[in-house]
Amino acid sequence: MYYPTWMEVDLRQFSENLRTIKACLGSTLFCLPVKANAYGMGLVPISQAAEKNGVDYLGVSSCQEGVLLREHGIRIPILVFGALHEPEIEAMLAYNLEFTISSVFKAKQVQSHLQQMGKSCAVHLEVDTGMQRTGMQPDTFWDLYNYVQKEPCFVLTGISSHFAMSEEPDSVVMKNQVAIFDEIRRRIPDKEKKSIIFHIANSGALVRGSSSTFCQMARPGGLAFGLMDTAVAVAKSLRTIRPIVTLKSRVSFVKTIPKGAGVSYGHTYTASREIRIATVPIGYGDGYRRGLSNRGSVLIRGKRFPIVGTICMDQFMVDMGDEPAYVGEEAVLLGRQGSEEISAFELADLLGTHPYEIICAFTARVPRVYV
Ligand SMILES: *Cc1c(COP(=O)(O)O)cnc(C)c1O
Repeated sequence: MYYPTWMEVDLRQFSENLRTIKACLGSTLFCLPVKANAYGMGLVPISQAAEKNGVDYLGVSSCQEGVLLREHGIRIPILVFGALHEPEIEAMLAYNLEFTISSVFKAKQVQSHLQQMGKSCAVHLEVDTGMQRTGMQPDTFWDLYNYVQKEPCFVLTGISSHFAMSEEPDSVVMKNQVAIFDEIRRRIPDKEKKSIIFHIANSGALVRGSSSTFCQMARPGGLAFGLMDTAVAVAKSLRTIRPIVTLKSRVSFVKTIPKGAGVSYGHTYTASREIRIATVPIGYGDGYRRGLSNRGSVLIRGKRFPIVGTICMDQFMVDMGDEPAYVGEEAVLLGRQGSEEISAFELADLLGTHPYEIICAFTARVPRVYV
């Protein structure tokens, strides 16, 4: 099958990124978040590469994603981050997924399934140190902790929390979250603590924070995928981490338009002189956002050209000026070509969003090609 538009994922750079992170983590376990189709880069191939490269845990957001990974032969531990839904408990247990419990009520539901199945299972408890998303409040956390510790069907495997502002330097919010988490750790007797994996650090904590937040396991996702600004990384080794995605397409049509011609829906762009126009077959139906109309750019033959007119569902137009363009030639929409680069940060800035959202947004119509 021929695809005029595709996403190239560089698995060699990815494994280098993983190696760099592992070296930085030392004896801390590495949980790679692969939720949301591995941040848009392909759940199964990314997870297989991670397993091969010695990642210890995979993190997914839902039971559905975890089941898919098991059905594709992934054997390393999988932790489901999202809140537990009662109808999923049976599958969680059948597919050997680790999950997070955030209330005594949920613990009782799991327990009744375990009794029926004659099983025990690994569980993680989440404490909400300041994200206000899921997790027990620090004062009621102990009800859940004590409940799970006294029921033999539970193997208390981990205690986790999640940072709300780890990407900001010297965040007071983050310091408070660390303090609350440390206090929980401190109050657990050494004998019990020994077998528990504490984990709170995300990418921001690895880049900005101190290694004391790494605990027994860290969960950096965006960093592994090269979607963090590592120029500011405290650990210099992390600065070698690079993006792994290049979004490519091929020019599908070329023409010259006269001065005064309006381009695309609504004629939001009018040629101020005679110019050459190249049409590129990708649009918002592929996740190349309409908000980039008259703002985004593409790389052709290592040079940058502006997108003109409204981005359509399946294509958009590029102002080539006086330069030639040829049907079939490669256009890079995200990533490097020659010495030029369009980064996810650049697109995120243009759209007022975060780089993760840029990559996640590419739809299933864009094939992911692994190189
Ligand atoms: C998404 C997520 C992470 C990873 O965040 P990054 O910013 O990509 O490192 C870690 N932990 C949990 C619970 C998450 O939901």
